[in-house]
Amino acid sequence: MTITAALAEAQQVIGRLEARVLLRHVLSCEEAFLIAHGDDELTAEQSADFGRLIARRAAGEPVAYLTGSREFYGREFTVTPAVLIPRPDTELLIELSLQRLPVNGGRVLDLGTGSGCIGVTIAAERPQCRVTLVDASAEALDVARGNAYRYAAANTTLLHSDWYAALADAQYDLIVANPPYIAAGDAHLQQGDLRFEPQAALAAGADGLADIRRIVAEAPSHLASGGWLLCEHGHDQADTCTALLQQTGFVEVFSARDLAGIRRVSGGRWTPGSSA
Ligand code: GLN
Repeated sequence: MTITAALAEAQQVIGRLEARVLLRHVLSCEEAFLIAHGDDELTAEQSADFGRLIARRAAGEPVAYLTGSREFYGREFTVTPAVLIPRPDTELLIELSLQRLPVNGGRVLDLGTGSGCIGVTIAAERPQCRVTLVDASAEALDVARGNAYRYAAANTTLLHSDWYAALADAQYDLIVANPPYIAAGDAHLQQGDLRFEPQAALAAGADGLADIRRIVAEAPSHLASGGWLLCEHGHDQADTCTALLQQTGFVEVFSARDLAGIRRVSGGRWTPGSSA
């Protein structure tokens, strides 16, 4: 079968773009190759590999788990089913972090790093800062370690920790997190790509706020004076998060909107003595 015929057949079952991404993965090629070599014959092995991926995608597996990769802030990150698939919305956290980091360095803590997409991106964008990436999942930490070696090994440190638990009295200029924030009973957890992602990376207690509460409450013990906490959250959690930050004594509390116009990240600044 030719490349063109294989793509046409795949598109009967899965989306057009997904079919092209999966075939590029099988052939380890760029999009330009698919276009220029449409009449090339696939080998029997390539056809079989492509067929298996189409069947898995048709059964619901996320494309990123099938290819083992997802682009985030301009870099390809290795992903496995042990980690959340990086989302474009989370790039907002990167923008807000880069705006707030001291120009000549800064100590950053990425809580619940998963694939490492947040911490590794900050470390790669700002080689002079030091980034600590923590996760409670050893499997996730292995994935993050691989991505750190790929892009920013020199200024990253990885630590197995349940949020702040293993950090002792370390202090940071910026704490950033995209924690689990979906309510445990939310029907979305049983739908689409979410079914295949680690539930521990998605769900957080009956109201989805269990981890955010902990992250906000313990942040002051780990923030240097003037340091920032930035936290991603659900589409309807901005008011609750900003209230939590204010009650805890954060100042300059704000929420920022994602690409869809939703208040998706909230943050605040810690200055000792600012507490109400
Ligand atoms: N920090 C990772 C990300 O933003 C993982 C987040 C998570 O597992 N909740 O993709």
